[in-house]
Amino acid sequence: MKVELENLFSIDESSQDQVINVYNRHGIAIGAPEIRKRNLKTKFNPIFTLNEDVTYEKVAAVYESLEREFGIVSIGERFYFEFSDLEYEWAPLFTLNSTGNSPEMFLEDKGTLFSLSTHCKNCGLMDKEQLSPIVIDTSHMKGRHLVHVSGYWVASEELVALLKNEKLEGFEFLEVIHQGPEQGKQPAYQIIPTQILPSSSQDRVKLYFATEQPPCSCGLNGVIKGPDIYHQEDLAALKGDVFYSAEWSHDGRYLYKKTLFSKRFREVIIKHGISREVRGEKDRNFGPKDWLFDPVLIK
Ligand SMILES: [Zn+2]
Repeated sequence: MKVELENLFSIDESSQDQVINVYNRHGIAIGAPEIRKRNLKTKFNPIFTLNEDVTYEKVAAVYESLEREFGIVSIGERFYFEFSDLEYEWAPLFTLNSTGNSPEMFLEDKGTLFSLSTHCKNCGLMDKEQLSPIVIDTSHMKGRHLVHVSGYWVASEELVALLKNEKLEGFEFLEVIHQGPEQGKQPAYQIIPTQILPSSSQDRVKLYFATEQPPCSCGLNGVIKGPDIYHQEDLAALKGDVFYSAEWSHDGRYLYKKTLFSKRFREVIIKHGISREVRGEKDRNFGPKDWLFDPVLIK
């Protein structure tokens, strides 16, 4: 697994070489970036790999220099996790990061009932317990097999039939409530895993945005978690195809338990042409309806 960090900021074109120098001086090799000119400023987005030599502390030092020497304060950061082919082949489980390179995979919650309580007084993250079926405008599911609704996955009738046909196991379906125009309404079902995975390994990469507030003491808000890592022996006796993780995830406001899928689940999706095989969000295959599964790492 490789962690890449992309920076994005604007600079005067004339200072471009000096900015590249700042990176190189701190031991981060970057080449001349792709120039996207806009007025007098140039968009600058170097991407580099984080490893033992290029640590995140080093990157924070680069930001300090950029601010001190060039007055650059607004630096966008984006992390990419790239997996090797072997990691895809060996992974017994996958996280599903997207069901399409398009905002249409996210559906708005139209009034599902939840009971809410404060999880962290510091950052205000809330616990959320679902009390009713999910409420969405199902007409937006047209042509899509799986959509994401505030931490939950909702499947089309066709996908439900396929999963049953392929005898995938370890989940229940709960029909959602349609809220919206009668026309275009269609049946849709929340996928509810019936098992929770054992705890994942503590070795998981934890990052944070150096340009933002430091992470909250609850260890959730402000922390960017790398791929899930599991101990092999913990997963040895696992049966089924869909699971909740033991750890909390959050969407910035609410906590939820992430859903993980078996290797076989991913294979079924690809075999039936629901999605092409996509490896990472930079994969050229990643189109508006392709599913992005990331492998969990095993140690
Ligand atoms: Zn917190």
